[in-house]
Amino acid sequence: MSCVSESSHLNKFLRQRYLSLPQGDFCQVTYIWINGCGLDLCSKTRTMDSEPKVIADIPEWDFCQRGTFAEMLLAPVYMFRDPFLLDPNKLVLCEVLKQTREPADLNHRNSCNKIMKMVKDLHPWFGMEQEYTLLGVDGHPYGWPKLGYPKPQGLYYCSVGADRAFGRDIVDCHYKACLYAGIKICGTNAEVMPSQWEFQVGPCEGIEMGDHLWMARFLLHRVCEDFGVVATLDPKPMTGDWNGAGCHINVSTMQMREEGGIEHIEKAIEKLSKRHAEHIQVYDPHGGEDNKRRLSGFHPFSSITDFSAGVANRRASVRIPLHVAQKKCGYFEDRRPSANCDPYAVTCAMARTCMLEEEE
Ligand code: ADP
Ligand code: MN
Ligand code: MN
Ligand code: MN
Ligand code: MN
Repeated sequence: MSCVSESSHLNKFLRQRYLSLPQGDFCQVTYIWINGCGLDLCSKTRTMDSEPKVIADIPEWDFCQRGTFAEMLLAPVYMFRDPFLLDPNKLVLCEVLKQTREPADLNHRNSCNKIMKMVKDLHPWFGMEQEYTLLGVDGHPYGWPKLGYPKPQGLYYCSVGADRAFGRDIVDCHYKACLYAGIKICGTNAEVMPSQWEFQVGPCEGIEMGDHLWMARFLLHRVCEDFGVVATLDPKPMTGDWNGAGCHINVSTMQMREEGGIEHIEKAIEKLSKRHAEHIQVYDPHGGEDNKRRLSGFHPFSSITDFSAGVANRRASVRIPLHVAQKKCGYFEDRRPSANCDPYAVTCAMARTCMLEEEE
């Protein structure tokens, strides 16, 4: 079996002929939502008579939930340009609601948004570093030998060259697609394990962090589909002496970014140190079980049981970047969230612990 999907071999030249047909005033709007399990994304497309200008122009829709067959509502929340069908077509991120209009069980956006409104005057900024691994459709890491393993880790991080950087086409196309769509993508690099990559989104204020990261994930899966490979966010896709995948979160408030802000950064880290276990619980979608596989302590990762913090320390749970310590203001980095975390749940926990005056 080829490791690249059948449909990626369809004639892309012919496809382009149809895609460039004029479409009149009509607009294709693709609704995107987080599936019931909270892990993967779904989409479906409809025609609107004219181009929506603001999110309120896009009507609610519904879908039949996999497994339960329940009819659920799709409430549009954020509109992006569509880098696949191109202007004027749109991608619209939706919240999933029950028929009663209550949020669906795994709709973490709804509760996150409430907290973000409460801390809005602090102007919380977030930046997340999404790591992921490319796989063939056979589930084997993309570009790895079918039998045996590639050379051990050590030459892949930020690497260049056909013998060490596997799948850059996907990284480049995803980056451009994000820029076109209007996602605040701010960088990318090859990671420590071969076929593992990272992109960064941010800084984003408040609820925007989750919206932009989820849409960037959608674009990643969709670009990979075109190339016939699969991106997994599994935090430990290969057992053994291979790095896991995380989703570091960088955090600041207006006070932290201003002169002398380090004092506020240290206060926030102090609060985080008292809630290690609670945070580990929301830093992956399975209550900490996924991170158990990743934060094994063997690789340069922090421990799952103990909190630690330090300047320029990449083995700590929380790191103050060197330039922040030197300038005495800026942001801090929490390295614990796993690659498959829900950014709404993570930013929500961060805001509650560090920005709200909650009871201990
Ligand atoms: P690392 O050195 O940890 O690999 P990266 O360059 O991969 O760092 O990512 C840095 C992240 O920090 C980016 O997502 C960026 O948006 C974010 N960031 C930069 N400035 C701030 C800030 N003031 N507040 C919050 N996040 C920030
Ligand atoms: Mn139908
Ligand atoms: Mn990084
Ligand atoms: Mn990384
Ligand atoms: Mn980092």
